Amino acid sequence: MDGDNFETNPDEAEGLQNIDQSPTDDDLSMLIEECEKLLEVEKINKQQNKCNWKKRMENLSTNWESCRQNIFHTVLSSAAANIDTCSRCLVNKCVIYCQECPDPKSLCSACDEEVHHKYPLHDRDGI
Ligand SMILES: [Zn+2]
Ligand SMILES: [Zn+2]
Repeated sequence: MDGDNFETNPDEAEGLQNIDQSPTDDDLSMLIEECEKLLEVEKINKQQNKCNWKKRMENLSTNWESCRQNIFHTVLSSAAANIDTCSRCLVNKCVIYCQECPDPKSLCSACDEEVHHKYPLHDRDGI
């Protein structure tokens, strides 16, 4: 009787040992929980990054809004020059280019009259 028990016990022990070595359901669920926690933390981090990114983009677009106004005017004035608009009134087509006027050099006939009423000796070219 004792001998029989002694013979069967090692097999059982071996079987138990094998089970101990492989992860049990408890271990697995704990591992999964651990992973989920890590994922949660990562998710939160990502969300925070997104928030920061969003904020940065908002700041950027705010800066851009203020910049765009300047760029718009710069582009507009250069475009105006390109399409031969009077650089004084920015409305009429320029017909006169004055070599001696300090700034608005390309003038429409109306502005030319106004400006060169005072300076009739300016050297002007027709465009
Ligand atoms: Zn003009
Ligand atoms: Zn002039």
